[in-house]
Amino acid sequence: MSVTYHRASWNNLFNSSFEVSNNECSCLSGRHLDGFTLPCHIVAFQHKSRHAVLPRVPRPSFMQRKFLPSSLFIRAHPRVISPNSRYPVKGLRFVSSSTSSNSKSSFSARTTTFFALGSALIGGLLGFSFAYGPQSSVSAPPTSLSTKTVTKPRYGSAEDFQKAIEELKRTFPDEDTVSTNPEDVYNHGFSVNDYHPGISHSVVVYPSSTEDVVKIVKIATKYRMPITAYAGATSLEGQFRGYSTGGICIDMSQMNRILEINEADSDLVCQPGVGWVEINDTLREKGIPLFFPIDPAPSATLGGMISNGCSGTNAVRYGTSKGEWFLNVTVVLPSGEVIKTRRRSRKSSAGFDTTKLFIGAEGTLGIITEVTIRLTPVLPTTVAVVHFPDVRKATEAVRDVMNTGVGIQCVELLDDVFMHAINNFGQSGRTWPIKDTLFFKLQGHNHASLLESAKVVKEVVKKHGGFDFQLARNEKEADDLWHDRKNAHYSGLALVPGSRPIATDVCVPVSRLPDLVYETKQDLSTLGLVAPIVGHVGDGNFHAQIMFTNEAELATAKVVVERMVHRAIAMDGTCTGEHGVGLGKKQYLVEELGAGTVELMKTVKRALDPLGLFNPGKVMCSPGR
Ligand SMILES: Cc1cc2nc3c(=O)[nH]c(=O)nc-3n(C[C@H](O)[C@H](O)[C@H](O)COP(=O)(O)OP(=O)(O)OC[C@H]3O[C@@H](n4cnc5c(N)ncnc54)[C@H](O)[C@@H]3O)c2cc1C
Repeated sequence: MSVTYHRASWNNLFNSSFEVSNNECSCLSGRHLDGFTLPCHIVAFQHKSRHAVLPRVPRPSFMQRKFLPSSLFIRAHPRVISPNSRYPVKGLRFVSSSTSSNSKSSFSARTTTFFALGSALIGGLLGFSFAYGPQSSVSAPPTSLSTKTVTKPRYGSAEDFQKAIEELKRTFPDEDTVSTNPEDVYNHGFSVNDYHPGISHSVVVYPSSTEDVVKIVKIATKYRMPITAYAGATSLEGQFRGYSTGGICIDMSQMNRILEINEADSDLVCQPGVGWVEINDTLREKGIPLFFPIDPAPSATLGGMISNGCSGTNAVRYGTSKGEWFLNVTVVLPSGEVIKTRRRSRKSSAGFDTTKLFIGAEGTLGIITEVTIRLTPVLPTTVAVVHFPDVRKATEAVRDVMNTGVGIQCVELLDDVFMHAINNFGQSGRTWPIKDTLFFKLQGHNHASLLESAKVVKEVVKKHGGFDFQLARNEKEADDLWHDRKNAHYSGLALVPGSRPIATDVCVPVSRLPDLVYETKQDLSTLGLVAPIVGHVGDGNFHAQIMFTNEAELATAKVVVERMVHRAIAMDGTCTGEHGVGLGKKQYLVEELGAGTVELMKTVKRALDPLGLFNPGKVMCSPGR
């Protein structure tokens, strides 16, 4: 069968749709202006079907343009893409002719070589375009997504969006509530913490109440305008990026009140814009000996924490946000209806766990406007630090320490690169040996039990080559030691001036962690990338903070991430232990969970958000209509 390469300018593809009639159109390749070649495994791989309308390719923002190739090479059987197609690509020029099987294979080889780079990069850039992708019926077999039902979200036009903004301004006349300031709308769709290109929203609205959110949702629905919630903005996978058509960003920072503290019940009711640090500070100031143990980035707030299904250093002792820490949530659904998922009792077996539906949903199913959380008693803790000859020995030591059952609240691995970064950052009071290091936070009922735990840990780590075991002598020293661990992310950023990070995480069964960390470190070192590793290793969860300063490094870093993810999934792990899916991990969901499970998520999404307005393009490959 002869294969034709067609060339099309990106500009001609923007805002066009085209049709394939079989699965021959399997890849696209582009050439960047500077000669950097990418296979743009756009959508055809996602939709290997006999007949599919490929997504409209949205016009990229200014920030995205620098990553895009100037033209495409589309490999396809002549029947697949034709100017007579029902959805012709406007201006598509057919410039090349049929090729031999040799050139087909050389193309394929090149495609394979660059596949990882291109799929990750273009997937990230065009991820939002899956909004327009073919949709499947839930009765599809678990191994493949059916494309029987093809529906497309129809968002409003630019004029509709303008009308929506005017209505928002009339509804919220206070000039601080609705912002179209270009800097504001861009900053709400961009983050220095991650590598995804920024995508501006059209407007940012700052609601103060559930009723305000209902009004915003109704206006968004009337004008078919996407909605993305914005909380502490510490996401690492592009979760609050704008949508290509523009949309409304709901900044929850004004909904930041603690409403009730029920000390006797160990719970607290608050609005979603309250930070976990603020909650713990408030409890401490009020002399209430309770705390909330889910601890992601210090500026994260509850709405974002629930939505990303986060956890943190305390997860080894207290579990994650997918445990029972969120007793109930009040949510504004895409229909504008307000629901509360559960009452305040500790336990309930009344029906489905609808609170969990919103944990990890990344704002795709509703906007959370109130939360009830569980609290837990503050217990005495102290900190111990120990170094190792290599990461494998350190992670093996963790596995054995955890099996002793001593009181460990946290156990964190910082590799030699991170220890160097902390020294380099200059905020630590000490100069650390540049060695793979474990930071333990020990927990007990009193000083004696802490000392007993420390003794057990010291013995175990010694068997694995641990050396220079230090136990904090007092609370201040413990705080200082832990502070060095908590500064890891920013120490890492400072390591390579002018760099940006891919802060990626994976998680595996704890016994597989030594192999995973060891192999990933080898990979990073072979490819010459600067990438400190930090891990909540007691949970089998670790992060690589891969620094890049240019596109070539970014592309290489994405290859490492892709290999890391495949390795983790092959070990029965996950593509993300705590950072969530956002734009960056969605291409791995089917591999990890199976098409049937992803399809179930899409079915829920379609049922709740039939217009596909809520944070489109995140979590699943399409907004899931
Ligand atoms: C330095 C640093 C350290 C980190 N450490 C950890 C860690 O140890 N563990 C960990 O799990 N993560 C960690 N993270 C990631 C991040 O802190 C978490 O993912 C956190 O949960 C994000 O919360 P946020 O308030 O910043 O949410 P945002 O980033 O603002 O939003 C997250 C998502 O939630 C949605 N959303 C926000 N508010 C609402 C709402 N009210 N209703 C519905 N949807 C909403 C947004 O649309 C978005 O999709 C770290 C990040 C950084 C920068």
